[in-house]
Amino acid sequence: MKRFDPRSFRFRLWAVLVLFAALVCGLMWLVQITALRTTYERDRISAVRQAGNIISSTYGREGFNDALFTVTRSGGFFVQLLREDGVLLRSVGNDGAEAPPPQENLVDWQIFSTLDGTDGYYFYRVPDTVYDSEWIVQAQVVACRDGLREVLFTSASLSPVSAAISMLSSRFLLVTAVVLVTATVLAFVLASSLSRPITRITGRARQLAAGDYEVDFPKGSCTELDHLSAALDTAAAEFRSTEALRRDLIANVSHDMRTPLTMIKAYAEMIEQLSGDDPVKREAHLQIIIRESDKLTRFITETMDLSRLQSGAVELTMEVFPLAECVDSALESFRHLWEREGYRLFLSLDRGALVRGDRRQLERAVFNLINNAFHYTGADQVVYIGVSRLAGEVLFEVIDTGQGIEQSQLRAIWDRYYRINNKHAASTGVGLSIVKAIFELHHARYSVDSRAGGGSCFWFTLPQP
Ligand code: ADP
Repeated sequence: MKRFDPRSFRFRLWAVLVLFAALVCGLMWLVQITALRTTYERDRISAVRQAGNIISSTYGREGFNDALFTVTRSGGFFVQLLREDGVLLRSVGNDGAEAPPPQENLVDWQIFSTLDGTDGYYFYRVPDTVYDSEWIVQAQVVACRDGLREVLFTSASLSPVSAAISMLSSRFLLVTAVVLVTATVLAFVLASSLSRPITRITGRARQLAAGDYEVDFPKGSCTELDHLSAALDTAAAEFRSTEALRRDLIANVSHDMRTPLTMIKAYAEMIEQLSGDDPVKREAHLQIIIRESDKLTRFITETMDLSRLQSGAVELTMEVFPLAECVDSALESFRHLWEREGYRLFLSLDRGALVRGDRRQLERAVFNLINNAFHYTGADQVVYIGVSRLAGEVLFEVIDTGQGIEQSQLRAIWDRYYRINNKHAASTGVGLSIVKAIFELHHARYSVDSRAGGGSCFWFTLPQP
């Protein structure tokens, strides 16, 4: 995988920002200059049309000279009047006085044949030979005497806008240079300030990847990076707890397997060497061996069941049935315990409360929870079991009066092999993990309400079908 190089990231970011600034300047330049030229041209063309129409409307009448004078002076137009036989009747400059055309080709001597194919108007452009610009010229037939047409040429120079544009262009170049230099510096600062925290986070992430779970991710740059840091902090915390769990797990598993094995070996040796001939002792030792073997078998079976549940290898057989039946079947197994050993069992079972689920798996979960309640309840040996309907859900709860569970342990008890000190003989630390896996397969809501010294209430709910 290509490694992240902060310098090249910074450089690319910087280059992108500078390019962006240049692009914006270029676009502004283009828009300004073209917009200016087109607007000015459009205005001049309509002014030329208007001027031509004013002059032509007075042609051959009194007031023609005044119109000519006023229009040429006010609009800065040059006006020529050409007759078809080649005689230039009038040539008036932009000061209203008679003057030769500012440049020879402004008056097109071939205009009469061109006008033949038009409605009497013709519009053309002539390059300005003095300034780096253009003339716009309107030719229009204003009269026809003795078979000879007379054409009015109204012309205006675009040189003012050309001058303005060239001035603007040079200013704009300066502005662009200033903007680009500023953008370059700003982009550099921005790129550095953005890439610095990323570089720091990347460094810490590498530490995390190398197994340093105590690493702390820096915050305080910008919200998004703070979120990233917070997410990585959470990941590090998860890694820490997984690592702790892994260590516990190895310790627990090896301890849980070694203890019965040691006992089995020790008692087998005792039978071999000491008690082989004494039937009473031999019987007692054999009972211990059988008990420890059972424990080992249960531990291994439960571990395998849990793995199958968690890996999705178990397929649920869904059916609708009264949840109270799970309680009945669990209690059947405990009958000898609560009847003979003086447990005080309180039941409140809504037998009409139906759930949709895998009967066998739910029986197992209910069995484990009731089993724990019997094991961990207090000296008064009270256990309460309830099934009820509540707001579209079916609630199962089992309450005991035992030692309860510390707030800090409430989450961990659902983890595999997690046991708090008060181990009972049959404890494997797998029971609640199996319960949790079954509930999660059923998308059930579940939890435990408990506090140290105050008993526990384990509950889950399933939607009513
Ligand atoms: P175990 O086989 O040890 O009971 P579980 O997974 O069923 O394993 O339970 C995990 C731990 O949670 C137990 O070791 C016990 O400390 C605690 N626990 C479970 N149920 C109760 C309860 N009803 N009251 C107090 N502690 C409980």
